[in-house]
Order: sequence, then C-alpha cells, then structure tokens
Amino acid sequence: MLLHYIWFNKGANFYCPFPFFNIKFCYMAKTKKRLNLKIYPGVSPQAVGLAVIFSFGAKNESKKTGGFTHLAEHAIFQGTKKLPSVNKVDQEIERITFDLEARVAREYLKIFSTFPKEYFHAVIDLLEQLIFFPLFAPENELAVKKEVLAELKKSRTDKMESFITEGAKKIFKGTGLENDGLGTVKNVKQSNIRQWRKWWYGKVLHSKFSIIAVGKLTDKEKTDLHQRFANRKCAVPPVSKSNISEQRIFVSDNSLFSYLYLKPNKGIKKLNSEVVRDIIGQRMPKKYGSKIKAGCALFKSFELIECQGVLPTASRRLEFLDMLKDIFCSPPTKKEIERAKQSVIKELQDISCHLDELLDWYIRSYFYSIEGGDKDINEQIRQVRRISEGEVKTFFRRIEKTKFRVVSI
Ligand SMILES: [Zn+2]
Repeated sequence: MLLHYIWFNKGANFYCPFPFFNIKFCYMAKTKKRLNLKIYPGVSPQAVGLAVIFSFGAKNESKKTGGFTHLAEHAIFQGTKKLPSVNKVDQEIERITFDLEARVAREYLKIFSTFPKEYFHAVIDLLEQLIFFPLFAPENELAVKKEVLAELKKSRTDKMESFITEGAKKIFKGTGLENDGLGTVKNVKQSNIRQWRKWWYGKVLHSKFSIIAVGKLTDKEKTDLHQRFANRKCAVPPVSKSNISEQRIFVSDNSLFSYLYLKPNKGIKKLNSEVVRDIIGQRMPKKYGSKIKAGCALFKSFELIECQGVLPTASRRLEFLDMLKDIFCSPPTKKEIERAKQSVIKELQDISCHLDELLDWYIRSYFYSIEGGDKDINEQIRQVRRISEGEVKTFFRRIEKTKFRVVSI
C-alpha cells in the first residue's frame, strides 16, 4: 500500500525559502470559509487539519540505515514522556482526533491529523509529545519490529508491489532515491531501538520541517502553534542531488509492466502536470479496464510520469509498448486539454469539501510547491483555467524526444 501511495499520489519537492528559519506556516486563509460551508456531510465545519512535515525521508538513509526513519516513526507512537505507554498514546489519539497518521516517503516524513477544532491545543500538545519527547523504551523494540516486519511481508507477498519495488531499485539507481522508505528485513532485524532513537534525535529532528494547517485558526492559536514549534533549533539538511538525465524506461516481466518517464525538474508546474496526468488517464484503453494505472509525481530533483499494470496476455510486449508510446507521446488535442482542465478543476472542487483530502492536497502541493501550492483552492482553480494549450503541448513534445530504454526483471 505504501508504495502504491508513493508512486501514484506522492512525490515531493520540499522547498523552504528561509534556510535559517525552519518553519513555514501555510495558513490557508480562504479555505476557512469553505470548511464552514459544511459541504461534506459528517465533517464538522469546526474541524482542523494539521500536518508536520520533515524534509527527511528514505533519501537520507544509506544501505545500512535503510528503514531507520520508518522504524523510528513507529517507535514514537509507543510512548512519550507524558504518555508513557502505547495504550496511553492510543487513548489520547482516540480522544482528541478523527485520525492521526505518520508516513515515510522517499523525500519526507509526515505526521498529520484531522480533529475537532475544540481540541486544537490538546492536539498540538500531543504532536509535541510524539515528535520531541518520544521515549524509545527498550521494551518497545520487539513490538516495533513486529509491526514493521509485517508491513514488509505484506509488500513482498503482493506480486505487483514487489515488482514495482524491484523496478524502482533499478530505475532510481544513482538518484539517491533507491530506498522506498519501508526498510529491509535485514536492517529491521539487526538494528535496535537505541539506534532508532539516535536516528530520530540526531538526524530527523535536525532537518527542516514545515507545518501546514487547514482550518479556521484564531490569531492566538497561530501564535501558540508558532511558539510551540518555532523555537526548536534545527540544522539545515544537505540537499539531495540527482544525476538522472531525461529518460523513458519500460520495465517488465512476462505479465507485469511499468512505464516511466523521468526528467530533471526544471520548474515544471504542479498544476500543469495534473492536467498531463489527466490526459494520459483519458487515453488509457478502456478494454484493459483498471488493470492499467497512470500517475504523475514531482520529486525534489526530477519529475516522474508513470504507468503500470498487468500486461494483456494476448498482446506481445512490443506491441503493447507501441501502444504506451502513443499514450505518452502523441500531441494532445484541444479537446483533450480542455477536458483534462475541466476534470482537474472538478477534482479540486471535490477535494475542497473533504478536510482530510484537502489537508493531503496541501501537503502534496506544498511539497511540490513549484507553483500554487501555498495558494488557496480557488486560486489554484483559476490557475488551471489559465494553463495554455502551448504549455501542455510542449510537455508532451519533450516526452516524445526522450531516449528510450527497456529494462527487464
Ligand atoms: Zn509503517
């Protein structure tokens, strides 16, 4: 699930304009009103979404430390100074939030929650506890290992997921993004909670972090949030560099395939890539149904467009490859572009009615953040309307001109 999540939805581009000021607050001022509209039944207009995001992920791990961020992320939920057991942490999460989750991706680690506004202070207390005062008690080591090993097992028993993992290792080779964030069985078994503790306090907490809040916050709440987190002294982490050149890659075994297009990220606009993703989606041959999926992701240093699925048994691999080339490389028509723009606008309107999706969108937008990520949804919709035909066509032309490589697994 995690991989699917990263590949189809995630990708990150952390950008902090103030290198010595480690927090950037994105108060989504105009979305306050939207939340008050109570468009989505069951979600209180008094709800708030909050995310703490560290510019630290699998990219910061080596072969030996692969998975440490993930292990530490599990360990922080096992007990904190004020909530010294896993039960106490769970009870508090149950009591004050709708949900609270943490995830490690290739380029970042995020801890995010949606909750009733009345618990605002309780939630920032909880986040502060989890992030800055986790216990990493030796007696929790086994429980964490068990959880993470179960996740690893799950990701390996799914044929598609393990295929993608293997493909990713080859494709990302040399980019610094080989690790997917989950870790390896070997590292999980051989490492211990003291190492994860050291990793958390010595590395993760020294990276830049951001807080994204979605909801109607009072000035006092903003000040409190600021005071609680802003005084944490954090060092600036090294910037990851990628030596990837522009390329198209096709990876397959006999039944599964993954088609990728990677290029250095030179200011590709977030919303434009949403439109491109939609055009590619529109072109997916209906006859294969949901067996083929396409996604688009912006990483810090490069852009990825990908398509993956199950190879139709009737087709030969090369024929299928031709079909994919058509999907990815033929110039878009005016009608296709218009339809894609409308559907991205519709998606943005839908997202704005669900607090959790809205928060997630802002997290992603903020990480992509090349354009429009810190603007409210209405402005992002206006931006989509302004995307020109020429911009989208240039994008496809670039894909077409790219060298092509086939990798088999
Ligand atoms: Zn996990």
